[in-house]
Amino acid sequence: MQTKMLINGEMVEGGGDALPVLDPATGEAVAQVPEASADQIEAATRAAEEAFDTYRLTPPAERSALLLAVADVIEENIEELAELETLDVGKPWPMACDEEMPLTIDTFRFMAGAARTMTGSVAGEYAAGHTSMIRKDPIGPVASIAPWNYPLMMAAWKIAAPLAAGCTIVMKPSEITPLATLRLAEMLADVLPKGVLNVVHGRGGSVGDTLINDPRIEGISVTGSPATGMAAMRAASNQIRHVHLELGGKAPVIVFDDADIDAVTETIRYGSFFNAGQDCAQPCRVMVQDGVYDRLVAAVAEQVSQIQIGAPKADGTEMGPIVSAVQRDRVAGFVDRARSSAEIAVGGKAGDGAGFFYHPTVVANVDNDAEIACNEVFGPVVTLSRFTDAEDALRVANAGRYGLASSVWTKDVSTAMQMTSRLRYGMTWVNTHGMPAAEMPWAAMKGSGTGCDMSVYALDAYTSVRHVMVAH
Ligand code: NAD
Repeated sequence: MQTKMLINGEMVEGGGDALPVLDPATGEAVAQVPEASADQIEAATRAAEEAFDTYRLTPPAERSALLLAVADVIEENIEELAELETLDVGKPWPMACDEEMPLTIDTFRFMAGAARTMTGSVAGEYAAGHTSMIRKDPIGPVASIAPWNYPLMMAAWKIAAPLAAGCTIVMKPSEITPLATLRLAEMLADVLPKGVLNVVHGRGGSVGDTLINDPRIEGISVTGSPATGMAAMRAASNQIRHVHLELGGKAPVIVFDDADIDAVTETIRYGSFFNAGQDCAQPCRVMVQDGVYDRLVAAVAEQVSQIQIGAPKADGTEMGPIVSAVQRDRVAGFVDRARSSAEIAVGGKAGDGAGFFYHPTVVANVDNDAEIACNEVFGPVVTLSRFTDAEDALRVANAGRYGLASSVWTKDVSTAMQMTSRLRYGMTWVNTHGMPAAEMPWAAMKGSGTGCDMSVYALDAYTSVRHVMVAH
């Protein structure tokens, strides 16, 4: 098992405490990975700072070629990397390989193209005898902090865009799921120039905190919980730094009376329980118009009760374990607190054995202001609640603290257009939910963050607009 970190082009053993990495399907340790010491974090940020001097000046075509090479390395090693994701997170096989890796690879290929689109918008005379031009230049070394739910894909989002923009990186994967990212770092040690990408391992409160407060770091990019987003904003405010946040979500699925109920049910069965529901865009808060409420509850309960849980490689497994005992207990806590005021239609209990399993759960008759309807559970749980009309649905959905994913289900174009224009979410799908595309932004509003990952707009977080004027 590869447990070393990448610092200034070298693979080095962490000098700090060794942290166990557990297989969520068995609860057993599969590796011990030493954290970075304070000196190693310092060396990684120094390497990123020094490499920035030359990397920022590389022509876009060169950066593009590097990103294409990274994509090729991942593609050549797709099975090995997906195996590590399965071991780290408990993802069912072969879904980890077939469903996630294509977008991980495409993120680098898309950004290879995007690197060549970073043009300023004008060149002309805006004061007599002076020519002005607009440049978009890289901001500097970036601290990229990733979560545990899609470790490699989130690493891709946090690496590809800054590299395309001309920034250098110190990346920290989640301390509970570092394996695929550390292995990728090793694969890239000879592909990327020295110091351009550094990967350190360790806990958020120590290694992550030291990293985001380092004065050489010019941009902080976090995908994670709101608490970590707030820590990043505090760190950024101390030194006036760029900050880009993709945080939690609580996606409403707004189902009107005229919706295709089979399509909604299918999306919930396959979308809400994908990755054991540990997905920031998870279709989890199902809001149903009165006329189809009972029918949808019955259909969802019937479908979800059929989902087979099991070890990632066991025959017929559709849903694996939750990533950790802590996260499983957190999920169970939400469900247990909802029992007295709502109906647990399916599931609501932990699985058997030593792994961190929790049964796919459907909670019906949930009040729109209930804790489980408003807060991110981040596990295999969906809630169903009622609304009366479009105004009612908009009022409830827009009152939430989050603003990441949402969907609207109706056959009426006019209803769909009104809802999409008035929902305050970074992403709204109509008659589908959660479909990503590398060309399109994974965008956050409100408490879900700032800016976006994916698409050319992701480059904005890593570039500054500059004015250059020449007198003549
Ligand atoms: P988390 O915030 O606990 O951890 C995320 C990362 O931040 C980890 O690497 C962690 O070590 C680090 N971290 C924690 N405290 C830190 C600090 N003080 N300073 C620096 N780094 C620190 O989140 P998680 O539990 O790993 O991930 C789940 C969360 O991520 C959920 O809220 C989910 O919605 C969110 N998420 C969002 C998106 C998105 O695109 N919006 C995608 C995936 C996950």
